[in-house]
Amino acid sequence: MSESSGATPRLTLLRGDITEQQVDAIVNAANSSLLGGGGVDGAIHRRGGPEILEECRALRASKYGRGLPTGRAAATTAGRLPARWVIHTVGPVFSSSDDRSELLADCHRNSLLVAEELGARSVAFPAISTGVYRWPIDDAAIIALRTVSQAPSSVAEIRFVLFDDRALTAFRQAADSLGLPLG
Ligand code: ADP
Repeated sequence: MSESSGATPRLTLLRGDITEQQVDAIVNAANSSLLGGGGVDGAIHRRGGPEILEECRALRASKYGRGLPTGRAAATTAGRLPARWVIHTVGPVFSSSDDRSELLADCHRNSLLVAEELGARSVAFPAISTGVYRWPIDDAAIIALRTVSQAPSSVAEIRFVLFDDRALTAFRQAADSLGLPLG
């Protein structure tokens, strides 16, 4: 039996800044260049220091020469942040004419797979794609929570760190409508 089978991670929601989280790994809503951007990506690189960018450059020079594809995930050090690792994932840009929900779900699934490979026991996610990439927060919350609750994982705690009250409320309502218990 694999280590991950049957595990149910504790799910928590809080309002806060993901760069301050004391968890093993934080997820970054990166862009495919991996070379930094605005929003949560900018905050992570600013607070985490240049080591993160150095490792991102190394990923670009090796495995992801053309950039990290949308929906995929890759880890680096977390530099000076309290976390040990940053798991970079690229959310889809929202489109009202093209359903990209599976790509947003892939970000969550693949980030958890990377967390598992790292041996991370606690992982914090931001609300991927809901900033510059314009995904409506209520829908993003449903996709994020449904996906992590269905992904078998040896991770013990999955924390969503929401930057404002509106996002926190959306995630709380999504957890409620999916019938997910919060830890
Ligand atoms: P994307 O390009 O995937 O939309 P953004 O960084 O623009 O990524 O936004 C994703 C979400 O992260 C937004 O809901 C934004 O409010 C939030 N956010 C921005 N900074 C932080 C932070 N320091 N901690 C947690 N969430 C953040």
